[in-house]
Amino acid sequence: MSESNQEYIVISGARENNLKNVSLRIPKRKISIFTGVSGSGKSSIVFDTIAAESTRLLNENFTMFVRTFLPKYPQPDTDAIENLSMAVIVDQKRLGGGSHSTMGTITDIAPIVRLLFSRVGQPHVGTANMFSFNDPQGMCLECNGIGRNLGVDMDKAVDMSKSLNEGALMLPDYSVGGFEFNMLMESGSYDLDMKLSDYPADVLEQLLYGKARKVEVLFGGKTINVTVEGVIEKFTNKYIKRDVKTMSERTQRAVTPYITEGPCTSCHGARLSQAALNCRINGYNIADFSAMEVGQLIRVAREINDPIAAPIIKSLTERLQHLVDNGLEYLTLDRETDTLSGGESQRVKMVKHLSGSLVDVTYIFDEPSVGLHPRDVHRLNELLQKLRDKGNTVIVVEHDPDVIKAADHIVDVGPHAGSRGGTIVYEGSYQGLLESGTLTGSFMKRPLQLKQDCRPPSGKLAVQHATLHNLREVSVDIPTGILTVVTGVAGSGKSTLINDIFLQQHPDAIVIDQSAVGVSTRSNPATYTGIMDDVRKAFASANKVNQGLFSFNSKGACENCQGLGVVYTDIAFLDSVKLPCEVCGGKRFKEEVLAYKLNGKSIADVLEMTVEQALEFFTLKEVGRKLQAMNDVGLNYITLGQPLSTLSGGECQRIKLASELHKNGSIYVMDEPTTGLHMSDIGQLLGIMNRLVDAGNTVIVIEHNLDVISQADWIIDMGPDGGSRGGQVVFEGTPTQIAQAEQSITGKYLK
Ligand code: ADP
Ligand code: ADP
Ligand code: ZN
Ligand code: ZN
Repeated sequence: MSESNQEYIVISGARENNLKNVSLRIPKRKISIFTGVSGSGKSSIVFDTIAAESTRLLNENFTMFVRTFLPKYPQPDTDAIENLSMAVIVDQKRLGGGSHSTMGTITDIAPIVRLLFSRVGQPHVGTANMFSFNDPQGMCLECNGIGRNLGVDMDKAVDMSKSLNEGALMLPDYSVGGFEFNMLMESGSYDLDMKLSDYPADVLEQLLYGKARKVEVLFGGKTINVTVEGVIEKFTNKYIKRDVKTMSERTQRAVTPYITEGPCTSCHGARLSQAALNCRINGYNIADFSAMEVGQLIRVAREINDPIAAPIIKSLTERLQHLVDNGLEYLTLDRETDTLSGGESQRVKMVKHLSGSLVDVTYIFDEPSVGLHPRDVHRLNELLQKLRDKGNTVIVVEHDPDVIKAADHIVDVGPHAGSRGGTIVYEGSYQGLLESGTLTGSFMKRPLQLKQDCRPPSGKLAVQHATLHNLREVSVDIPTGILTVVTGVAGSGKSTLINDIFLQQHPDAIVIDQSAVGVSTRSNPATYTGIMDDVRKAFASANKVNQGLFSFNSKGACENCQGLGVVYTDIAFLDSVKLPCEVCGGKRFKEEVLAYKLNGKSIADVLEMTVEQALEFFTLKEVGRKLQAMNDVGLNYITLGQPLSTLSGGECQRIKLASELHKNGSIYVMDEPTTGLHMSDIGQLLGIMNRLVDAGNTVIVIEHNLDVISQADWIIDMGPDGGSRGGQVVFEGTPTQIAQAEQSITGKYLK
């Protein structure tokens, strides 16, 4: 190896998936961007070759003894990879973790805040553990640190507008004149004919919340001793404080309608013990710190003047600043991580790495610009540069022109998708890319065109006084029968308005998002779109056998892998590992089934066809229509049998779109459908949206992509900023109108 090659990761003869013997050098300690149309082979190089080899090498570090327990990571199909350092993948997989995982815990900022309170909070209470809702010493004992608990649904339990005789008590045990009812009435002086809303406060309190006490009541002519308690108090003790599972199913069914989950009645959602909540710094308690937007928290932290706390405050503000730099200043530390979007999750992960001290790592990012408004892309660039300047190699799969512009080195993969891609069409500087004549190069030079002939709406759907999350009394008309783009900086309230409010009112809308598709590990594009049913029938009738033979879960399937083609090995402390089935070699069916042919092809051959190849092969009308839909959404390079679990978020979204394309008169809602799409793919996506509109549908798209925004019939711009500084509609109108609107940030970028 030559001396200068030490400065590069050198890949020779890569052949994973569609790669055609690709060789390339990636400069170390620089930012390299991989771009190219979707399906061209970017992931095959970056994830299936570079990241896979790094994982395998890491594995080789274990002793021989340990390795006998580990799966054999197959070597990527490549001649050689040299100078690779440890790779860390920062992807958009959602951060799960349940209610105990919050922004504060995942970023390791929560322990610093606890330490701060234990040192300078007043009154002084004790150790940092006292401030942890994950610690028995600190958690609220009413809700076990969850912040929510079960309670009685008061609207269903009592009707304040009625008197007791009219049936004001609606809980199951209190029918008028029944045993419980009579006991309670005997125990106090209740006016049976007065509306509950007219009751004196103390009497009402006694009726509903009175603690258990022994009283003598007259019953059937005799005086007896009974214990009575308020209606709500009794229901709570009898049904809510006990484990529901110990009750009969009938009882469970009878009482559940009256039980609801709400903020904990003791800590009001703060999750902490009273002692912890009483401790304050400059008037704020730890729950106030956690509920404050990061941008404000930084200011509050800087105002703490205490020499003991100086080092703690320094490390706190440093980490908070990383969140701000990452465009996350509108989030709060108490935000549960499973409510973050994919783009937000990725940015949070990035913060963890920035705070870490690893050097000479190869960081791999998958489309980090997702969810970012053009205004904030420069911040992303600065973060990538910071990682680089710490001595790391940064590799980014990305389509955003502003990120591409800021790269040290650009690798353009193409020229097209699938078998028509798999080569490097350009490597080098940004200037060189512009002159290269590749698809990416020519699209980067193209000026933005604002749509002129915007369609008039056929009607409108009104959203009124929406107040969820950061929305402040938002009222806006969503036009029907046209293409509407909802835009605005991250955290401005787009998803809250559309996904939480609008879709709540219109549950019949067709939602095309990036969440995973596929119900089982056997799902693939053929089963998902229904093509597989027609294919099975065609094989059955051509061979005069039962169509069940050609199903993955029939006796025709390979018994070793149950039709999966791969075998999963679970190892205690690693992700489960997938290896090709040794019996069928990945073909999924038994030998005798593979012998049945349709026009010379076996069922396994058909599943290996790309959509494009299948379009040529099949003459069946119904199959053709479904394949054409896949082709139209830009998925012609995908094979019919590719497990849905291997599809990216963007591909999942497009396959959903393909199977929903034939409706009309519907409302379609799409969340960043350009994810994973190259600039040259977007024209096709716009074509589909326009076709849906022309067929009489309403299309609503949440997007930051300027090519899509510029082609909208109508734009709703949220803002002006994220979090508490957002939550308003700052502009409604056509692309040419928004480009002239002073108050709109989006407008500036369209100009
Ligand atoms: P990009 O990242 O540029 O969108 P990919 O590297 O994901 O492209 O895909 C390149 C080609 O390899 C495509 O034809 C794709 O269908 C195929 N491919 C990718 N992953 C797999 C897989 N796990 N199994 C089979 N084919 C795959
Ligand atoms: P956008 O879609 O424009 O990025 P969102 O609607 O996701 O914005 O967020 C708007 C505001 O609401 C932000 O301050 C965000 O932190 C907050 N928010 C969003 N989802 C939740 C949630 N599940 N719980 C609490 N706050 C949320
Ligand atoms: Zn509580
Ligand atoms: Zn098998």
